[in-house]
Amino acid sequence: MSKRKTMGTLYQEALRYIPGGVNSPARAFKAVGGDPLFIEKGQGSRIYDVDGSEYLDYVLSWGPLILGHTHPQVIEEIKEVLEKGTSFGAPTTRETELAKLIVKAVPGMEKIRLVNSGTEATMSAIRLARGYTGRDKIVKFEGCYHGHVDYLLVKAGSGATTLGCPDSAGVPQDFAKNTILAPYNDIRVAEKILKENHREIAGVILEPVAGNMGVVLPEEGFLQKLREITKEYGIILIFDEVITGFRVSYGGAQQYFRVIPDLTCLGKIIGGGLPVGAYGGKKEIMDYLSPLGPVYQAGTLSGNPIAVAAGIQTLKILSQVRIYERLEERTRNLVERLRENARKLRVDIHINQIGSMFTLFFSSHKVYHYQSAKGSDEKKFAQYFQGMLRRGIYLPCSQFETNFLSLAHTDQDIEKTARANYETLGRLR
Ligand code: PMP
Repeated sequence: MSKRKTMGTLYQEALRYIPGGVNSPARAFKAVGGDPLFIEKGQGSRIYDVDGSEYLDYVLSWGPLILGHTHPQVIEEIKEVLEKGTSFGAPTTRETELAKLIVKAVPGMEKIRLVNSGTEATMSAIRLARGYTGRDKIVKFEGCYHGHVDYLLVKAGSGATTLGCPDSAGVPQDFAKNTILAPYNDIRVAEKILKENHREIAGVILEPVAGNMGVVLPEEGFLQKLREITKEYGIILIFDEVITGFRVSYGGAQQYFRVIPDLTCLGKIIGGGLPVGAYGGKKEIMDYLSPLGPVYQAGTLSGNPIAVAAGIQTLKILSQVRIYERLEERTRNLVERLRENARKLRVDIHINQIGSMFTLFFSSHKVYHYQSAKGSDEKKFAQYFQGMLRRGIYLPCSQFETNFLSLAHTDQDIEKTARANYETLGRLR
């Protein structure tokens, strides 16, 4: 059987049993065309499909695998813990160990609660903000994704102060009516919304660096000013650091930008590639949670021993000196090469980068909010994606996602990627 046919057959079979053949829509190649690859294994910076083809991986499971695939220390630990049991539904000492590591690392987290996904983390943080303040409304920024929570599946309304309209079928208008949308990086609009509605607003949630419209950095003063205004009105500031936590620095974006939120949501990296999420913040707020306080939140598999063990090992490795400098330096080298290629070939691109995350936008303009990100040429991106894939480089299959580097990516990997990029950009129509 030919190579494409093997993969095609597997996809056809998956389609019969799983909607769209995927267990998360971002995995389908809908925006770029073609069938998704079926992955058999990963090692270091590489993944291998079921046909044995090798790809240099810039998806890294959408962020968690900052150490690369199958890091020996993480795998060893998982094996050891696995032998002792997969779940107990009772406290284990490792949960405290992971909580301690996180609390020590992330400035805004004095206490944390472990959950099973980023979605659970944001949903629970918002319930807590509402319970604590006794207010209902939430401010959310266009282009920020916070998981598939009903009232957070709201993005581009007709205006900044418009009450939310759900993006997904199945979300009653009523559920979204307490979500107020604001444009990212526009502090004037945010300030106006907060001033006018402060008696009803429980919290403001945002990605301190957006990763879900492609990488979009906060403009100078944006986070600081949000912190000042929310503080003034007793509104809970929630940083969704599901992507940026332990990614842009060991203490996340809040450490990088020196702005401390009241609550923080984490996921991805803290589970070392296993399903985990967490939320945490000021003791006074966290103690509002059941069994101490009136806000209920629970989970059968929360604090799962295997996921927690993988998380602990990952954070221990990340706490070593100069890890983040090394990651950032390598990423910057790659991004410089990509910019140079585009200059030589006269292709309009704009790259946003911070730490080991970046997005190459097919845009001649600066990308600083949802609208400007949406202005990118998605057709060009689709061609680019396919060209890179043919050359053995596995990128996120959408213009509006983040590329990640891991500690396993080498200078040779950068070289290979830059060469593939030059050839691919040169052939774009
Ligand atoms: N918040 C952010 C910033 C995310 O990027 C994601 C997922 N990519 C989530 C929340 C939801 O996390 P999960 O997919 O684990 O539910």
